[in-house]
Parts: sequence; C-alpha cells; structure tokens
Amino acid sequence: MCGIVGAASHQNIVEVLVEGLRRLEYRGYDSCGFAVINGSDPKHSIERARTTARVSELAEQGKDFRGTLGIAHTRWATHGKPDTQNAHPHISNGLIAVVHNGIIENFAELKAELLEAGVSFASETDTEVAAHLIAREFDATGDLVEAFRKVVRRLHGAFTILVVHQDQPDVVLAARRNAPLVIGLGDGENFLGSDVAAFVEHTKRAIAVGQDEIVILRKDAVAIENFEGHQVQREEFLVDWDA
Ligand code: GLU
Repeated sequence: MCGIVGAASHQNIVEVLVEGLRRLEYRGYDSCGFAVINGSDPKHSIERARTTARVSELAEQGKDFRGTLGIAHTRWATHGKPDTQNAHPHISNGLIAVVHNGIIENFAELKAELLEAGVSFASETDTEVAAHLIAREFDATGDLVEAFRKVVRRLHGAFTILVVHQDQPDVVLAARRNAPLVIGLGDGENFLGSDVAAFVEHTKRAIAVGQDEIVILRKDAVAIENFEGHQVQREEFLVDWDA
C-alpha cells in the first residue's frame, strides 16, 4: 500500500500534488501518476500523467498541466503488472478519475458484473472496477456523492480511494476502509494524504479520517460522513513536525 495525495485549491495544484508524492516516496512504489481538473477553464477536461519511472519524471511529464483540483498516486502493484497502463489514475468514460491504495477483495465478481453490462477495461487492476462502478451510478443518479457512497459500500477489503469528476470541478471525494487517510486544512485550499507528510509543507492543521468514512473536500469546505451518509464530526489536531 503506497501513497495518495489529493487537493482542491483556488490556485494551480500541480506542484502541490507532485511535491506530496515526493514526500511519500519513502513508502516505495513501482509507478506513479496524477490527474488534474481545471475549474477555471470552461472546457476543464481531465489531464493525466503516468509513468513507471520516478516522481521526478512524472513532474516533467505533467509540468504544463493546470488544475485547481487533483489526485495523485504512488502504486505498489497488487493486481496487474507494474506498467503504465496499470498505473493510476484510472479513468472511466473520459470523465471520472480514480486513485486507490489497497486491495478490493471482491473485484472479480464486480468486474464480471461490469463485463456482463458491456463495460470494457483498459487495465488489469482491481481499482478500475471502482472507477466504472462510480461512473455507472453517476449516470443513473447524477449525484456524485450518492454514487460514490453506493459504490464504496460494495467494496470489500482495504482501500483509500479518491475520485474527481470532470463536470464537478470543485470537489474531490475520498473514502477509507482499513487504510489510512488524513485531511489537511489550508487557507483557500484543502488537502488529502495517506499521511501528513503529503501536505505538512502547506498546513499543520489536520484531521484523521475514521474507518468507513467519506470526505467531501472543496477548496473552502470539508465535510465528513459515514458510508450511510450521516455527518461525522472529527477533532482537528496540529502536526508538530515540519517538512
Ligand atoms: N490494488 C491496486 C493496484 O494494484 C492498488 C495498489 C496500491 O496500493 O498501490 O493497482
């Protein structure tokens, strides 16, 4: 299980994401990637970079990207070989991007269900199943949070999972079950990380997300709820070390 970073900001977050990944490199990884959505661009299509090389190469690949919202990942392959095609983020319908640390234990039956429904897969990962399930639920309801809630309830195993949708360029959704996730509270920007190292350079105000909880992260607001959709209050703490 490697690293995850997410951010929603009033400004370009490409460097925040890449720097966050750099600070999580100590966890080890075989590939890495990130995706951003630009809320200030009316076309705001997802831009994605992935590589089996180091985070420094990823930074080079994505240096011209511009995004106010984004998700980033270092992968330690469990399902599918460590190649670029299997590197995260995974995208469904060209609209939804997902990163995931952990293992979705029931992915085979979920994949069978999606294949039956005519969905095609671009990777060998368990993660891609989640991306397509969220896309399908979103198509049915038009409500990204509700779609996400429904899907995470169906996933068994261990996951920290982050999602962005091109048509909702103000929100990053995250969920955790048996895997770590911490929120960083900034000024006009908020962060997500598998540990505080991902964002401690930008803020020392943090909230630890509880088991089976969802985070709805915007640049100026953070809400936490459980998988049933009930609001959860969590105490903020101050990180007492620096980058
Ligand atoms: N199971 C996922 C994969 O193989 C995520 C692995 C990880 O935790 O990085 O892509």
